[in-house]
Amino acid sequence: MSDKEPENPFEELQQKLQEALKHGHFTMVPPGYGMGATSPKNDPEKFPEADDPDTEETLKRIREFNLKPREIRDYLNRFVIKQDEAKKVLSVAICDHYNHVRQCIESPKLMEKDYHKQNILLLGPTGVGKTYLMRCIAKLIGVPFVKADATKFSETGYVGADVEDLVRDLYKLSQGNVELAQYGIVYIDEIDKIASQQNSSGGKDVSGRGVQINLLKLMEDTEVNLFSPTDMMAQMQAMMSMGNSGPQKKTISTKHILFIVSGAFDRLGEQIKKRMDTTTIGFSADRNNSEKEGFEYLPHVETPDLIKYGFEPEFIGRLPVRVSCNPLNAKDLGEILLSSEGSLLEQYRQDFKGYKIDFAITPEAIDDIAHKAYAEKTGARGLMTVLERIFRDFKFELPSTGIRNFEVTTNTVNEPAQTLLRLLKENQHLQQAVHMQEIETYTSRFEEKYDLRISFNELACNALIDEAVEKDLSIRTLCEQKFKDFEHGLKIISRNTGESTFTLGEEMIKDPDKELSRMVVESFRKDSE
Ligand code: ADP
Repeated sequence: MSDKEPENPFEELQQKLQEALKHGHFTMVPPGYGMGATSPKNDPEKFPEADDPDTEETLKRIREFNLKPREIRDYLNRFVIKQDEAKKVLSVAICDHYNHVRQCIESPKLMEKDYHKQNILLLGPTGVGKTYLMRCIAKLIGVPFVKADATKFSETGYVGADVEDLVRDLYKLSQGNVELAQYGIVYIDEIDKIASQQNSSGGKDVSGRGVQINLLKLMEDTEVNLFSPTDMMAQMQAMMSMGNSGPQKKTISTKHILFIVSGAFDRLGEQIKKRMDTTTIGFSADRNNSEKEGFEYLPHVETPDLIKYGFEPEFIGRLPVRVSCNPLNAKDLGEILLSSEGSLLEQYRQDFKGYKIDFAITPEAIDDIAHKAYAEKTGARGLMTVLERIFRDFKFELPSTGIRNFEVTTNTVNEPAQTLLRLLKENQHLQQAVHMQEIETYTSRFEEKYDLRISFNELACNALIDEAVEKDLSIRTLCEQKFKDFEHGLKIISRNTGESTFTLGEEMIKDPDKELSRMVVESFRKDSE
């Protein structure tokens, strides 16, 4: 290399960019938040500094990691129902992993030694808590957590996403802190979908295999560029930041990133069953194997089963921790509603509380919801679907009524539409008061805006309320439609008569324009008298 050759091959371009920036041709965006960024923290104003106190706090916690498996399990018990085996296995794997991270920080020489990372394979049907378990763990430790579906990746990264984007996403979530990103957790769902299957011509499907190989590299120890080679904006920012603050680490090492892959593995249970039928007698001794469902065999998964399923041996070799999560029955779903912290019901209770409505639910209603959710066959996700369906119209209607207590019974669950109608009817007397309040709010706002006081007599109020109900409009919308240009007419009257308070009658509701014209004409007459 000659002396004159710039160290940074992009130096010239970088200088030009700096110039452009100086002259205001560009706005500087924080690193990692260029085009295509999906972080909620996209707002540059809100972009935290890399030495953000929260980040420092988290790093301190990792450097001093001292949790025990039991403590993690107990924490998970607060949020996740069942899945006891998975909780245990994950707690141990997580403690081993972060203990190793801590030890490597304490004595960097350890890094050079061979270490088999505790990457995890989670098997089990959808909606049973696989992701939730890992999210809870990531939250407990405070490390960034990124989730993606394996199906979105393509072998080349040109058509679909590039697996390395996962690591860059960790960096974004770490608020630009490379060290924190390096201790993050990457969760890849639907991994069973990239098992390469025999295709019709007898060969293997290559694209799934290609993605497995790419993931394998990532799960081993590799350096990932902070900025995607296809993200022009990010590349430019990378150069700018180099120019501003000298050379920085431009890559993230995946050495300490924990990878969790998961999938439903629908066909695997049957496959294990066949293998066990031919190799084991003991397993089937207590119960006829034909009674067992496919998922019951998942805990017996062995490496050859996964290779036969379509995974590369090296890929599976990088996933030493394997554990399956069980399906949830209706009773479990009821328990999730009742006792898991941050349950959906709690969220609904909070939503109604936002309108000052007390929300209560009977045990029988919970039972019915759980059974309906179970019938959806999507695990705990079914709860979300069922609750949304039941409460959709209640959430729309109740806030505009005077109802302050909402007790959910089996009737509410099984006949939501009829129950809502009945509830609205029974509380009609409260509705009148709410409407009157809405009229009052409108007139106050009118006064504030135009310095003119209007009020409606009793007949006018009744006519307004009747029309609002008939047209299914709120009082506010109806009044705004009816009295759109009123301040102009009322101001003329006020000028002619000196009055600034107007009591409006029923005619004003029935034909506002005609009535206002009449009042204006009359005010001129009064004026000339
Ligand atoms: P998956 O097993 O497909 O990864 P998730 O973990 O994403 O499913 O579950 C979806 C949602 O259902 C979670 O966010 C959580 O609210 C709820 N959920 C699922 N399983 C459980 C469980 N065992 N205990 C409590 N909540 C659960």
